[in-house]
Amino acid sequence: MILFPTPSVSIAFRTGVVLAACLTTPSLHAQTDNGLTSMDSYRRPQERIHLILPEIPGFKTLKCDFHMHTVFSDGQVWPGVRVQEAWYEGLDAICITDHIEYQPHVKDVPTQHNRPYELAKEPAAEMDILLIKGSELTRETPPGHFNALFVDDCAALDAGKGPDADKEAIRKAVAQKAFVFWNHPGWKVRQIPQSYEWIPFVDEVHKQGNLHGIEVMNGFGFHRKALDWCVDKSLAVLGNTDIHTLTGHEYDFTIGRTRTMTLVFAKERNTEAIREALQSARTVAWSSEHLAGPENLVRALFDGAVEVGPIHHQSAKGIGFVEVTNRSDLTFKLVKAGGPAGLAETLTLNPRRSVLLKGANIGKLMEETRWKVANAFIRSDRNLETTLVSQTKTPE
Ligand SMILES: [Zn+2]
Ligand SMILES: [Zn+2]
Repeated sequence: MILFPTPSVSIAFRTGVVLAACLTTPSLHAQTDNGLTSMDSYRRPQERIHLILPEIPGFKTLKCDFHMHTVFSDGQVWPGVRVQEAWYEGLDAICITDHIEYQPHVKDVPTQHNRPYELAKEPAAEMDILLIKGSELTRETPPGHFNALFVDDCAALDAGKGPDADKEAIRKAVAQKAFVFWNHPGWKVRQIPQSYEWIPFVDEVHKQGNLHGIEVMNGFGFHRKALDWCVDKSLAVLGNTDIHTLTGHEYDFTIGRTRTMTLVFAKERNTEAIREALQSARTVAWSSEHLAGPENLVRALFDGAVEVGPIHHQSAKGIGFVEVTNRSDLTFKLVKAGGPAGLAETLTLNPRRSVLLKGANIGKLMEETRWKVANAFIRSDRNLETTLVSQTKTPE
């Protein structure tokens, strides 16, 4: 029987025990191994990635994915697998959001809208993954798809068909005090141009106070127009995988690469605190080298991650040296946006790496050089701008 997840330390421990038995009691080993050689040491280490992210004062930075599918709608995996992936890949919270209105596996897996959550609950508790209950309201586009989070009864979200059914589906989510966000605006935009417009249906749901966020990143799509809608209307910026297969088949998990996710700045690490943060729009979408969110939050991430050292050396010719360190797993690609000549035109701050800057009169040079962070978006057409101010200190 395989117990999951088995921390690598216990595998090492178990292997150690087996080896010790072989060395000290060979005759016992021969009697009890029944001709079986354990090859546990060949297993892929059961280890969780720890994503290093700065914390904003007063909040914990939680890594969340609020949109994914299982065999209970059109996904390929059992609910518990979503929890295992989340554990491996360093997430804090997930919401399995199978389609209410689309059940292509129904001949093999009967419609049971609450079952994915029930099946994922125990593995989530074992792996300390926060599990939120929700579903994807899968209406025709337009109006499109909406996720309802923090619901008690997913089955009660089924509004059926009919002229008023789209609005009825939202009403049913609101009746359960759900957090509702608009999924992947721009889906099939070539075939359905209204899929990427602020349509009257969405406007009405928003004006009624029932639209709380928009998916700015969905899988490998960055819906830049949606970032402007979120920023202008103070809605939560969401980034989710909408994964149907295995995340490991679609994403790269080397340092600097991640699955698409929402960074939630929550007061505590629990589902109610996540709900409060989502409703307060304290979120940023993150996918590998792309960040998108409100300026104050994206700036707080940059400032928390990047440390500019003092002038640690000044050469006889007056050249100063400064180290700039990225202490996070975020990547920042800086492009010079203004200021005097003297520093490079571009500067990449890779995760967990430092770069060395040098120049004449470097303290002043760094103060006056402005940088655009080309992969950190605060609007569809605007990037975070910043300076790298050295903690000026000239060595004696
Ligand atoms: Zn969808
Ligand atoms: Zn989906």
